[in-house]
Amino acid sequence: MKKDLIIAGGTVIDPVNKIEEIRDVLIRGGKIVSVARGILAKRAKKGKKPDFQAIDARGCWVTPGLIDLHVHLRQPGQSADETIITGTRAAARGGITSLVTMANTSPVLDTPARLKSLLAQIKKDALVNVFPVGAITVGLKGKKLTNLDALAHAGAIAFSDDGMPVVNSKLMRAALEASKRLNRPVLDHAETPHLTGTGVVHEGAFSKRAKLKGIPSRSETLMVMRDIALAHQTGGTLHICHASCAESVELVRRAKAQGVRVSAEAAPHHFTLTDDDIDPKNASFKMKPPLRGGNDREAIIQGLADGTIDAIATDHAPHRATRKKVGIKKAPFGMTGLETAIPLSLNLTRRGALDARRFVERMSVFPAKLLGLKTKGHLGKGADADITVIDPNAEETYATTASKCRNTPFWGRRLRGLARATIVSGKIAYLRGRN
Ligand SMILES: [Zn+2]
Repeated sequence: MKKDLIIAGGTVIDPVNKIEEIRDVLIRGGKIVSVARGILAKRAKKGKKPDFQAIDARGCWVTPGLIDLHVHLRQPGQSADETIITGTRAAARGGITSLVTMANTSPVLDTPARLKSLLAQIKKDALVNVFPVGAITVGLKGKKLTNLDALAHAGAIAFSDDGMPVVNSKLMRAALEASKRLNRPVLDHAETPHLTGTGVVHEGAFSKRAKLKGIPSRSETLMVMRDIALAHQTGGTLHICHASCAESVELVRRAKAQGVRVSAEAAPHHFTLTDDDIDPKNASFKMKPPLRGGNDREAIIQGLADGTIDAIATDHAPHRATRKKVGIKKAPFGMTGLETAIPLSLNLTRRGALDARRFVERMSVFPAKLLGLKTKGHLGKGADADITVIDPNAEETYATTASKCRNTPFWGRRLRGLARATIVSGKIAYLRGRN
């Protein structure tokens, strides 16, 4: 018989069940059995050889497993940048127990057969739960709608052309109609290609100073406006990916007040850095959408604090070193993020902008709700035993990674607040100091 697992002595933060105090968590058969005081003490008293395994969580937060709504695992076809094995190892190390992987692979996840083959590979290789999205348009080319019904049936958890915007409004409307019919969210990479052009960084004082082509905020907000209008019309569920500017936050705020089914995520780099922080010699600072201005960053933080922005998602986008070495103008967009989501988010906690409960809501409760995962996002009896144990005071210099890539501006920096243990379906996927 498999041993029970007890996570002992940590502060359990379970917003759904309104728990925020020191408790033990008892896990059996991959499910939560109970969250109560003194579970370990009772079991230890029996005096015999222990029939359980314990994780010491004293001084730590014990939260429902973190769910990352935005990851590029790069499989199939781009295994020089990442694979299911390395990407989910990085996720576990970063305290993430479930993730959504995007469809801009090679080939694109635009047919049921491709989705099914990826799901079989996930079953074999993944260390954490992986939920693939199905593409909205064939080959992400923006010309022809995929068979969204068949993709949903084959296991697509959401629909997205992420990496590319859906420029054709008729196709976006059809995707949102499918969203309503099939009860799957549309994950919206909001960008207007003609306004982005060959831009490299945010259009503003920095782009002028550095003599780099700019990407205006309007490139994002114009599509946010359009897609909110289409969501309003269709009743589909619209989720704005990687909101980066103040106006996007305001648009989502107003749309919610009008009853539109819209939500939004922000990436840790967008609430941590601004374009002023960019080192033009380091292409790891290049991502889409770009690092914006100080007022944008503050608006994102405010949006996260008041719930206008519902989720924190990493947009983990690994690129091998040779592709980033060509300089900021030519390098591809994207940075890794799975291992830095906790410490960067806890920076907001430390500055008083996001308390522990809201942190868990943004990184677990809401993502589970958006994806319709009823047994995740909380620690109620019978829930999946996906748990993140976070030591808010643990520190390290970011100098090793489980990812294949290290294209992140936080490489070599001091990180504070780290996963001590990551439990997936009752099994230890990561234990700090062990792996
Ligand atoms: Zn995107």
